[in-house]
Amino acid sequence: MKLSFSGLRALVTGAGKGIGRDTVKALHASGAKVVAVTRTNADLVSLAKECPGIEPVCVDLGDWEATEKALRNIGPVDLLVNNAGVALVQPFIESTKEVFDRSFNVNVRSVLQVSQVVAKGMISRGVAGSIVNISSMVAYVTFPGLTTYSSTKGALTMLTKAMAMELGPHKIRVNSVNPTVVLTDMGKKVSADPNFAKKLKERHPLRKFAEVEDVVNSILFLLSDSSASTTGSSILVDAGYLAS
Ligand code: NDP
Repeated sequence: MKLSFSGLRALVTGAGKGIGRDTVKALHASGAKVVAVTRTNADLVSLAKECPGIEPVCVDLGDWEATEKALRNIGPVDLLVNNAGVALVQPFIESTKEVFDRSFNVNVRSVLQVSQVVAKGMISRGVAGSIVNISSMVAYVTFPGLTTYSSTKGALTMLTKAMAMELGPHKIRVNSVNPTVVLTDMGKKVSADPNFAKKLKERHPLRKFAEVEDVVNSILFLLSDSSASTTGSSILVDAGYLAS
């Protein structure tokens, strides 16, 4: 997808690997200045070599105080992609407080926190903006072991709508992208059982999972003015799974 983000500054969380990393590369190639936020510094070092000029921020977004400190002087941001997430697999009956808290802190609470920082800046500058939350099709359907992960993505659906409602009058749009399995490190982990993966793939009308590029294209569309009248909404990148 050929879109120009020239003159705009974007912040992408979970920028070190997978969908976040390719989103940074696409935004950088489309002319945006990019702030890349992630947890592992080595990923930022290699990313900065691939995308000269990006601004790296190394922080654990599950830590509220550390995030507050890291983003204190983040400067003006026009586009935000809340992509960082963890998929910690546990059966419901064995679900622990630690996994529940970590999952909600990273997948939901950090979206609220980072978006607050960015939206406050947009409002004080009086500029329009676009925020895209990376959710999942498991916001709507679930699988064994995904009790907590799926619940975080369900919560993200309402957080996206609530943010869209309150930020809309400030011309800040908020939407989500909801993919099926994407074979990043995370996707490989959750579909590691070959029998499960085969059966799951066959249940998709397109008989495939999603590619990182498909997800990135939807992110760019929602960030861009091409989706100027879309807010509080979600794009499924699910190879038709929810239609099956
Ligand atoms: P990856 O695990 O491949 O990459 C996630 C990135 O987020 C990593 O760079 C990771 O850094 C970073 N990250 C994770 N936790 C934190 C944290 N606490 N603070 C800062 N950075 C963090 O995942 P994907 O690219 O596959 O997933 C991206 C998003 O897409 C997630 O929100 C995920 O839930 C969603 N998604 C993924 C699907 C899939 O099948 N892959 C399907 C549907 C949705 P580090 O490695 O250093 O921890």
